[in-house]
Amino acid sequence: MEKTSLFLVPTPIGNLGDITIRALEILKSVDHILAEDTRTSLKLLKHYDIRNPLKSFHAFNEHRALKSIIDQLSGGSIMALISDAGTPGISDPGFLLVRECLQNNLKVECLPGPTAFVPALIKSGLPADRFVFEGFLPHKKGRQTRLKELLEERKTMIFYESPHRLVKALEQFSENFGGDRIASVSRELTKIYEETVNDTLENLVEYFSAKPVKGEIVIVVGGKN
Ligand code: SAM
Repeated sequence: MEKTSLFLVPTPIGNLGDITIRALEILKSVDHILAEDTRTSLKLLKHYDIRNPLKSFHAFNEHRALKSIIDQLSGGSIMALISDAGTPGISDPGFLLVRECLQNNLKVECLPGPTAFVPALIKSGLPADRFVFEGFLPHKKGRQTRLKELLEERKTMIFYESPHRLVKALEQFSENFGGDRIASVSRELTKIYEETVNDTLENLVEYFSAKPVKGEIVIVVGGKN
């Protein structure tokens, strides 16, 4: 059977207990762990007594690092890619490396595991049978265009957003989709201050304007009726 060269290994999005037994076994067995931020990952790896060599692999060196990683994988090295949190390749580096591996006939496996949008979607109470994952919207150029493209979207929509842009984003969603559209804001999933607020966009703007929040955020918006 063909040997796997690259494993994509999801890591916890907050609660360190959210990692699978298989993920730990793979991380302990590979020649190198490619990490987005080696300092962040060291906390997790130390917690589980994983001491395999780390290499830095992030959005800023992704293109540059590709060739040397592919050369090493082609030479028989086995590596695991992890990101700071959640599943690599989901609003995180991973796509370019996977594509390059496939073009070089290197076998890739992605372990199932934590990713922020799944619990946010399920806790929203909005239909989860069909949804679109929009990730981070562009900050400036292209933001309005993307929002306009979503005007007729009937599926539940999922967005990642930073806390200091939350109210602005909710206001823009309210203007675009209508204030009475049902939505949900989940923050700090799996952490001590986890909170999910389900309401209309209009009420969510009011709620979060009165109560500025910190932490990591997923916004889920119902599709057009
Ligand atoms: N790879 C990650 C995943 O699988 O979800 C996403 C990485 S992306 C750079 C970071 C964004 O994910 C945050 O800005 C936030 O929108 C979302 N996120 C990550 N952890 C979260 C958490 N514990 N609670 C809510 N949102 C989270």
